[in-house]
Amino acid sequence: MSGPPPTKKLRFDSAPEVKYNKIFINNEWCDAVSGATFPTVNPATGEKITDVAEGDKADVEKAVAAAEQAFKLGSVWRTMDASDRGRLLYKLSDLIERDREYLARLETLDNGKPYSVAYSADLDLTIKCYRYFAGWADKIHGKTIPVDGSFMTFTRHEPMGVVGQIIPWNFPLLMQAWKLGPALCAGNTIVMKPAEQTPLTALHVAALIAEAGFPPGVVNIIPGYGPTAGAAIASHPKVRKIAFTGSTEVGHLIMQAAGASNLKNVTLELGGKSPNIILEDADLDLAIETSHMALFFNQGPQVDQEQMDKIMDLIESGKKEGATLACGGERIGDKGYFVEPTVFTEVKDDMRIAQEEIFGPVMQIMKFKTVEEVIERANNTKYGLAASVFTRDLEKAMMVSQGIQAGIIWVNCYNNFSVQSPFGGFKESGSGRELGEYGLQQYSEVKAITIKLPQKNS
Ligand code: NAD
Ligand code: MG
Repeated sequence: MSGPPPTKKLRFDSAPEVKYNKIFINNEWCDAVSGATFPTVNPATGEKITDVAEGDKADVEKAVAAAEQAFKLGSVWRTMDASDRGRLLYKLSDLIERDREYLARLETLDNGKPYSVAYSADLDLTIKCYRYFAGWADKIHGKTIPVDGSFMTFTRHEPMGVVGQIIPWNFPLLMQAWKLGPALCAGNTIVMKPAEQTPLTALHVAALIAEAGFPPGVVNIIPGYGPTAGAAIASHPKVRKIAFTGSTEVGHLIMQAAGASNLKNVTLELGGKSPNIILEDADLDLAIETSHMALFFNQGPQVDQEQMDKIMDLIESGKKEGATLACGGERIGDKGYFVEPTVFTEVKDDMRIAQEEIFGPVMQIMKFKTVEEVIERANNTKYGLAASVFTRDLEKAMMVSQGIQAGIIWVNCYNNFSVQSPFGGFKESGSGRELGEYGLQQYSEVKAITIKLPQKNS
């Protein structure tokens, strides 16, 4: 399903309630304290779309204060029935569905991915994510525990407080949903920074959050750069948790900032180098068709010059280090940031293209002899996000599934993710999980309450 074609030229004034050049704090639009703005560009052309408010430390201060106020005991948000938190999330998902075509077009404009992908994949998964967590809101249960002595002990899963969330550019709306859905479901308040390359749809969703009726201060959205606004969130003493998706390099900085400030709880979704293992008994047609499906997510230009340069640098390293370039390897045209689909063969394990995350349309083909060998070599990177294996042999599928150190294993499929199933990495691909019940657990503190009883009966 690719959805209806875009009906008209995208005009910002067709969504007058959204102020793309402002910061969203307390359900209101305000200028950056510094008054600064920065441009966001269309990756298909390299041309500026519009200017966006540039948040920094002072804006983070304002947003954290608003989020703290919204989280105060006795506030509208804290006293709201859990089922009503769920209703607000359902309302938000309905509003996103109402604006689905507009949001898909805005995502395409700002991120560069094809409209058909934005409409059918990103928007579909985004809407489903908010609905999934809406359903959880009144189903977050504690336990009663048979402790020794004359006591009764039970647990409550309580919200953590002000949560900082920093997201990347590859799935702007979806990464926002993965972060906001569980955090709101569990009753937290939020200060979020979208990626500097793709701030527009996050701001549109901010307007929908106000329209849905979330109380002021529950969600605050601050566009801006990583080393300024992002770092201010990660090191803020009143932020109780930081959830980050992005590069492993910045993941290290986030954890350091948490350690150096208030030991805030940290969850990280970082880079990957996910092997796609095809055994000799595999259904090759299936393996090829599935790889094509995975490429579906990789169409379109790179998000900016920096990202394109990073990919071209790695392609050059592959050529220099002696891999065979089977196809592609060049930039397409001189407008926008398009890179040819590229395949290398004769790739050695110690080449940069075999070790480093490329995050672009570049495939490395490597040969192996035994299952034991391929497991060991697949594990020989610092990453552990995902892996797949194609085989008709169930025993071999289980050997690979158990042997690979990664958070997600696909057997005879690739890149399948759904909101019910946990997503995240081993090793330097991250810590903690997003989505599903496991993802929800990352947004609550467990409180054990013990009551002394006059007498205990079994
Ligand atoms: P990045 O780490 O440079 O940026 C991600 C976000 O972090 C942006 O919002 C950025 O502004 C912010 N940031 C940058 N420096 C910061 C700092 N010092 N303090 C706080 N925040 C800071 O990543 P990128 O290169 O823009 O995005 C692509 C990367 O994201 C890839 O490496 C990819 O693997 C990773 N990614 C991982 C997952 C996952 O689920 N594991 C999902 C999507 C993207
Ligand atoms: Mg970056």
